[in-house]
Amino acid sequence: MQEQTFKKILFPTDFSVASDYALAYAVSVAKQFKAKLFILHVVDMSYDISGFYIPHISAETLQQEMKDWAEKMLKKLTIRMPRSIKAYESAIKIGVPHKEIIKFAKDKDIDMIIMGTHGKTGVDHFFFGSTTERVLKQADCPVLTIRPPKDILVKKRA
Ligand code: ATP
Ligand code: MN
Repeated sequence: MQEQTFKKILFPTDFSVASDYALAYAVSVAKQFKAKLFILHVVDMSYDISGFYIPHISAETLQQEMKDWAEKMLKKLTIRMPRSIKAYESAIKIGVPHKEIIKFAKDKDIDMIIMGTHGKTGVDHFFFGSTTERVLKQADCPVLTIRPPKDILVKKRA
C-alpha cells in the first residue's frame, strides 16, 4: 500500500457564508498535514455579462471591478489566516468556476480540494451546489466537501 501525502491543499472560495464555514476545515487540515494552502477565487464568467444593461460600464470595466473586489475580499480573508499556517498562496482566475478550480488543481499538483457543499446561492434542497458537483465529478484528487449547518444556508423561497 502506497501511503498518500497531503502537502498541497486547495480551498476555492466564492466568499459566501457556506464557503467561509469550509475555510476553518481547510485551515485545520493544512495545519495538521503541514501542507501549503492555496486559496482560489474565480471571477465567474459563466454567464454572458454583455447582455446586462449597465449604463456606461463596459464588460471589461465590470470584469475589472469584480477582480478588484475579489482582491479586497482575498486580502480580508488572508488577514484572518492563523500563524500556524506556514505557507499559503492566494489566486484569482477569471472564467467558469469549476473549470478553473480543476485546472488550478492540475497545474499546481494539488493533493486535496476542500470546499463547501454550497456557496452563494445556497439552496439546501440540492445535495451540492453545481460548482461542487462538477468538481466532485471531474477532479483527479480527493475532494472534501463541508456541509454547513442548515441555519447558515440562505433559505430560498420556492
Ligand atoms: P449554484 O452555484 O449551483 O447556484 P451554490 O452557489 O450554492 O449553487 P456552488 O457554487 O457549488 O453552490 O458553491 C459550492 C462551493 O464551491 C463554495 O463553497 C466554494 O467553495 C466553491 N465555489 C463556488 N463558486 C466559486 C468561485 N466563483 N470561485 C471559487 N470557488 C467557488
Ligand atoms: Mn455558486
